[in-house]
Amino acid sequence: MLFSRLAQYFEKLEQTSSRLILIDILSDLFKQVESKDIAMVCYLIQGRVAPFYEAIEIGMAEKTVAASIARAYGVDREEVLKEYGKAGDLGIVAQGLRGKGKGERGKLTVEGVFETLREIANTKGEGTVEKRQQMLSSLLEQMDPISAKHLVRIPIGASRLGIGDPTVLDAFAQSRLGDRKLRKELEGGYNKTSDLGLIGEVLWQKGLEGVKKLDVTVGRPIRSQLAERLPDPKTILEKFEGSAHVQYKYDGFRVQIHKQGDKVRLFSRNLEETTLMFPDIIKGVLDQVSADSVILDSEALAYNPESEEFLPFQETTKRRRKHGIAEMAKSLPLKAFVFDIMYLNGKSLMDETLESRVKSLESSVKGDEVLIPQPGEITDQADRMQELFDDALTKGLEGLIVKRPDSKYEAGGRNFNWVKLKKHSSGELQDTIDCVILGYIFGKGKRSSFGAGALLVGVYDKDKDEFVTVSKIGTGLTDEEWREVHKRADKIKISHKPARVNSIMEPSVWIEPEIVIEVLADEITKSPTHTAGKNGDEPGYALRFPRLVRFREADKKAEDSTTVKELKEMYELQFKK
Ligand code: ATP
Repeated sequence: MLFSRLAQYFEKLEQTSSRLILIDILSDLFKQVESKDIAMVCYLIQGRVAPFYEAIEIGMAEKTVAASIARAYGVDREEVLKEYGKAGDLGIVAQGLRGKGKGERGKLTVEGVFETLREIANTKGEGTVEKRQQMLSSLLEQMDPISAKHLVRIPIGASRLGIGDPTVLDAFAQSRLGDRKLRKELEGGYNKTSDLGLIGEVLWQKGLEGVKKLDVTVGRPIRSQLAERLPDPKTILEKFEGSAHVQYKYDGFRVQIHKQGDKVRLFSRNLEETTLMFPDIIKGVLDQVSADSVILDSEALAYNPESEEFLPFQETTKRRRKHGIAEMAKSLPLKAFVFDIMYLNGKSLMDETLESRVKSLESSVKGDEVLIPQPGEITDQADRMQELFDDALTKGLEGLIVKRPDSKYEAGGRNFNWVKLKKHSSGELQDTIDCVILGYIFGKGKRSSFGAGALLVGVYDKDKDEFVTVSKIGTGLTDEEWREVHKRADKIKISHKPARVNSIMEPSVWIEPEIVIEVLADEITKSPTHTAGKNGDEPGYALRFPRLVRFREADKKAEDSTTVKELKEMYELQFKK
């Protein structure tokens, strides 16, 4: 496929503010893509040259890209930067300058462009900036204006077509299986591999049956199994209709551990590779796990070896950094509480029961230096569960995660096979809500100097792959945080409502759904002005007295925010208390 053809589709995708039209455009595009190109097309749509979990970033500075444009189109870099100052988008600048240049060209293929971008990403060492600049400008020289516009946005990470993975899956289903509703059929394979490009390739080559046969492999993160909420031990045992597997709930961050021979890779809750951040965990894995290949699920927490105390989340989170890693690993060593195993010595354990996986876990991890296996306890007594819960709180932990002993590991699933039981402070909801910022509303008075008076926030409708509004929030942010939000939001603001946002309210400024915040509210109420869970004339859900607790984007993507389904359940739980 020619890159110029793909760029025309990017152009259409960028202009629509309707999700259904996004799917139609994508599906039309996919009908023309051959199997050898489909994976590359999938990555490029998301502004990448590899699946999300591969830590391959092109990461060119805006100045370097400006220099490439200047070189390609025979103008001064200063002129490019001046135009950029006016337009605020290097893509538009490149398009304009190319437009003035000589005749149209456009024989570059998707494959050719993709490979050069990969090469740019992989160029390291001396003279990197110059080499990258040269490669990009040589691509730009051979491009028509629309292609140039969309290409330059990729290396600076400004490619914002706003297309979520479920929307790509919808379009796969529509174009290859004849109905977008068949997305569900593709989700199993996707949840086990987290690689849209791979799903595309297998679907094109082997059809739906091929995708259904995909299983977990070391090196591809599995989408995490998640937990539902229930109010107390008795309700949990009633729901389980039998015994329950009880584990402590640690408040750190999730680490999925992949080991193959002496190579270990780590992935976060939102499937980002975090291998380089945690050398202490890597060492722990190599020392304590003798199996040749294994995938483990764990929660990592900072631990003070002197006082033998688990540190609060605010401390643990200091370990998420890109610099000074070795020193931090010494001063804030982590322990990984390993609560599950999904793969062992070449065999997937996904379909085995939790009970049997826990046995494999215990026999695979030796000692408790860094990795601490969590065998948990099986009980059918509400009193015993309450005791364990109280004990967890005494230890400074968050509560319990209670699991169905006979359940499989369900990649990407959130259901009652896992239930979280947390401490609840009176007058407030039992749990916080992760919201995504959709826009901001200009303020009057003191706050107007920071440019935002309130944030319009939403949650995620997983079925529709849409963001729906749930609240306006202005409380809980310090002046410093307002400035920070404003700075970050300005980089991702767009001129029209993003296609995947469904809102009745119109904020002063729309932004791409990217920034996730944790919000505490007193209550979930019904409201006709919000679209979360709104169904025809029936009102949606809204938050009463919302306030910001913290920013969550280090470990959550927009699609990982609280879902409408969860919100609805939390709403109903309020009446059971
Ligand atoms: P979620 O991950 O469910 O979207 P969240 O990030 O807000 O929500 P919580 O709802 O507080 O987190 O709890 C779920 C998280 O608890 C898991 O994702 C995992 O990181 C962590 N966790 C701690 N201990 C365990 C355990 N024993 N079993 C499973 N998860 C655990």
